[in-house]
Parts: sequence; C-alpha cells; structure tokens
Amino acid sequence: MSDVLCVQWTIIPQTAPQPWLPCRRCGDIRPFSSSGKARVNANGKRIDACLIYRCIDCDGTWNRPLLERRNVRSIDPGLLHALRTNDPEWTARLAFDLDDLRRSAERVEEFGDVEVRKNVVSGNPHSAAKMEIHLAAPSKTSLRVDRLLANELGLSRSRIQALHDKECLTATADRHFMRRPAKDGMRITVDLSGESDRHLVAMTAAGVDSS
Ligand SMILES: [Zn+2]
Repeated sequence: MSDVLCVQWTIIPQTAPQPWLPCRRCGDIRPFSSSGKARVNANGKRIDACLIYRCIDCDGTWNRPLLERRNVRSIDPGLLHALRTNDPEWTARLAFDLDDLRRSAERVEEFGDVEVRKNVVSGNPHSAAKMEIHLAAPSKTSLRVDRLLANELGLSRSRIQALHDKECLTATADRHFMRRPAKDGMRITVDLSGESDRHLVAMTAAGVDSS
C-alpha cells in the first residue's frame, strides 16, 4: 500500500540582503543594512520615500529610493501609512525585496540562514514510504535545495546526493535543482521505501518529535 506524506515547508529568511556601497566615511565599499526606518518627503502632490540603510562599520547612511516624485494619488494609501509610521512588517518586507534592492545597488550580499516552518498537509509520518515536500518562500532565499534538504531532513549532503543519483529524489524544476536556490512553489518528491530509517526521516520532515 502506498502511503504518501505531504508536507509544506515555509522558508523564512532571517537576515535581509545587504547592499555593498561606497561609504563616504569609511572611504571604501562597505555592506549596509536596513535600519527599519523609512523617510517620506512631500513636495506638493509629489512624494519621495526611501528606506534608510546604515553602513555596518561606521553607521553612515544610505537612502534606498522607494518612491521617486510619485503623485500621491498613485500610491497605495496602506503603503504610505506604513512608511510614515515605520511599520516593522512593511519595512522588513521591503528589506527582503531583493529584486527591488538590486535596482539601486549593483552588488548585493545574500544570506542563507532561514527558519523553516513545517506543516503536515496529509498522510502519516509514522507509516509513509514516500514524501512530497511543497516549498513556500514568500521572500527570496539564496539557500540551495540540497542544503535545505540536508538540514531539514537530518541527513548528510552525501546521502541527499545519493538519493538524487538513485532518482529517489526529484522535483518540479530543471534537473540541476539541487544546486539552485529553494523556490516558492517547488515540489520535491522523496521515495523513502528503500531507506531503513524512513520513519525517522519522515518525522523530521513533518516536524514531529520522534521520541
Ligand atoms: Zn562606513
């Protein structure tokens, strides 16, 4: 009897990407991190807004442009209010918006540290021989799929690679998915039927305490 365990992993990056920019005070290129504070300037009906970053060495500032000379009526009132009040949820979302950050900084350093929240969608980890892992990544991460799987299944990278070589580990992505960053919407299938410790692996995947 085939018993498939279906789990969802939500990947939450812990460190926002850092742009490397010339720092006037340091006189060199330095990483900057978001201060979590925004600045909004109104000039008549035109609005400018930026997110303030600080050099991690000297605290020198860099203003990341968010809105430039935008008509106030074309701006989502929720966003404007969030920027005016430094709403932490919004400023964090902006700090993790890698694509937008890349528009104003050529070099951006990404971090692979993540928190993974695990939910069982269906199936029983105690009896599963096969697993389907659905990835949800609301913010982009640079964490590679093979590293994610090794960490979250409690297996060595070589064992993950061996499962992949045996075609027991596949994904809805191109064939080089193991070396690519984990992506929102990706589905990974793991056939554990040949593994003696499959129950332990399935319980780790499900985030269930095996004791
Ligand atoms: Zn500096």
